[in-house]
Amino acid sequence: MRISVLVLGGLLAVAARAQFPPPTLSENTTRISDHVQAILGFPNIAIITGEQATLVVDTGLGPSNGATVARVAKKLAKGRKLYLTTTHFHPEHAAGEAGFPPETILLRPAVQQQELVEHGAELLALFNRLSPEYAGLLKGVGTLRTPDVVFENGVTLDLGGATARLMWLGAGHTKGDELILVDPDRTLISGDIVQNKVVPGVAGEGGSFTSWLTVLDKLEALKPRTILPDHSRPGDGSLIAQEKAFLLDMRSRALALKKQGVSAADAGKRLSAEFQSAYPEWAKNPDWPNTTSVPGFVQRVYTEGR
Ligand SMILES: [Zn+2]
Ligand SMILES: [Zn+2]
Repeated sequence: MRISVLVLGGLLAVAARAQFPPPTLSENTTRISDHVQAILGFPNIAIITGEQATLVVDTGLGPSNGATVARVAKKLAKGRKLYLTTTHFHPEHAAGEAGFPPETILLRPAVQQQELVEHGAELLALFNRLSPEYAGLLKGVGTLRTPDVVFENGVTLDLGGATARLMWLGAGHTKGDELILVDPDRTLISGDIVQNKVVPGVAGEGGSFTSWLTVLDKLEALKPRTILPDHSRPGDGSLIAQEKAFLLDMRSRALALKKQGVSAADAGKRLSAEFQSAYPEWAKNPDWPNTTSVPGFVQRVYTEGR
């Protein structure tokens, strides 16, 4: 059952990912704000440097990518301490952890850690089947290590001249999505919760569009200036309103069809066509050619109802 839910909710999005350029991260960085730099790739990795400590958000797929990220972080670091956290438990975000030096302090929300324990192996198996390249990068990855710090709703790290607020605000793309706000930059590292013109996808049983909207309201109240998503271009704070408007619009279109008795499969086809004309920039997003995720989106909205 779990697997079938994952397949329904996640495989379409994951399959779209498989068309992506090789998931090997480069050492090139892009400055996002005063204390935040990013390796833009699959996925985007954030490196936040303070005077005393450095925080890395997400690992890349497999230990060799993790080692690349750790090397870049070391080059940028001013202080000796290295923290690592993950936006969610999916392999390209969490399964490169073994590439980091052993003294790295790993932090994760309790809900995300629980989800990793329950579903991590399923996702690793799925990614291993998706492509030989993924399988090669994930070779030898088994049980991931237990975090040094597990937090409930939030924890703030003082990096020296900059702080990073790690937050779990509720389910969305997964049950355990984490958001990170860096101050004084007011930069939000948003994972899959706020993207730049990417059809949102709920992966697995834990995520929820209804809860996702609540999370977006909480993020809007934080008034971030800059946003770094995990699978699309960085943008400004208006990405939150854009994400919310899309979710509300496409969700109400789907629910209207459900009310008319249209099957989820037919609604998926009709809304894929509507999506192309209503959101042409989203449909052509070069970062994420995932127009196929509209049927997955519709299926999930039908399941959640309302
Ligand atoms: Zn994901
Ligand atoms: Zn991802």
